[in-house]
Amino acid sequence: MSRFFLAILATNYLQEKPASSLIRIRVDNKYFREIIPGFWHASAKITCRNDYFQGVMIMKKLPVFFLVFLILATMAVPGLAAYRVYRAQPLNTVSQIAIWYGLPSDTLVQTNRLPNPGFIIPRQVLLIPDPVTGPDEQLHLVKPGETLQNLADRYNTSLQWLLDRNYLPGGVLYAGQMIKVPAAPKPAAPSWGPAKTGNTTIGSYVWNIPALMARHPGRIFLNGPANQRKVALTFDDGPDTIYTPAILDLLAKYGVKATFFLRGDRIPGREWVVQRIINEGHIIGNHTQTHANLRKLSVARIQEEVLRTEELIAAQTGLRPVLVRPPYGEMSESGLDWLAGAGYVMTNWSVDSGDWRAENADQIMINILLDLNPGSVILFHSAGGTGQDLTSTVKATEDLLYTLWGLGYEIVTLPELLSVPAYR
Ligand SMILES: [Zn+2]
Repeated sequence: MSRFFLAILATNYLQEKPASSLIRIRVDNKYFREIIPGFWHASAKITCRNDYFQGVMIMKKLPVFFLVFLILATMAVPGLAAYRVYRAQPLNTVSQIAIWYGLPSDTLVQTNRLPNPGFIIPRQVLLIPDPVTGPDEQLHLVKPGETLQNLADRYNTSLQWLLDRNYLPGGVLYAGQMIKVPAAPKPAAPSWGPAKTGNTTIGSYVWNIPALMARHPGRIFLNGPANQRKVALTFDDGPDTIYTPAILDLLAKYGVKATFFLRGDRIPGREWVVQRIINEGHIIGNHTQTHANLRKLSVARIQEEVLRTEELIAAQTGLRPVLVRPPYGEMSESGLDWLAGAGYVMTNWSVDSGDWRAENADQIMINILLDLNPGSVILFHSAGGTGQDLTSTVKATEDLLYTLWGLGYEIVTLPELLSVPAYR
């Protein structure tokens, strides 16, 4: 159930889609949409790809009785999503994996943008799209021991129907495969009438990054150059004493360097973690003192947020970071004027792993792989709120290393990716 409420909380903002934007809406659970037409907005997730957006934020009203429906729907069809992931094993080939999942090889190559179509490495994570279903079809997750004949009997259809609708070379089924079966009869409409589907405007919101980038060219970055297969891993909101050290251990194991954006108010008492980051060859950036939304602050307060953190970092390491990542990616024009004039570089991100709200590492990998490109700046978190579990972040980070290598990417620090100095 918590999964479900998280999905609602994290995704109940809807964006009216301006024609010029690159906004993509992913539906987290298509079953909600099918069961209750008009409801799906509340479970849709907005993804702003590498870009800014502008428009009016809309929140769909959520009638309480829909929650009951949603919980029932979640229990009835657990774990179905538009994508799943597969971690390649030694000796796996793309065509073999494709057959297991009932997909043509080309689909896997295209979905994962494999630069060398036949080449994958063990532990590389592949995105597996579920087959697209028509109105008379639904998906069935094959369990161990199930045969085509079992499914034909269970769904009251013919072997030929299953063979026609699915990509099943040799007619072989594999456990874990998602195949199309005839759709179940539509549930009867609730007798208490259709739900209200009114929209509530919760305020106008314009992310001002394009204007800011035009104002100070070369002082704001969302990503690096797209002409090299290089990406940067970034970890926000540390230091803490659990996950930041765990991520450092992991990066050390593989000899990978990353960039950590630290909160000043989390440094006192954890100076040893700050020192570890530097000693182990990573880069530190400034993520403000109190994680404030800088767009809402005066220039004087922005200066205070940045400089207090800088002093704490400098006191421990002697280094004054050039890179500043404003919390939520938010900055005012006057704040940026000061930041740029004072020699800082504002560095947001282009790929949001969604790690703080993800249910598991698989979902984090799906979030990343859908948006990954040469030059990507990937956002993770190395510390959360009190008691927040970021185990999935650590696991997904390890998954991502293998995946990036399998895709032929080089992992570099953010200053290297952007060709800017790390410290002043
Ligand atoms: Zn943050």
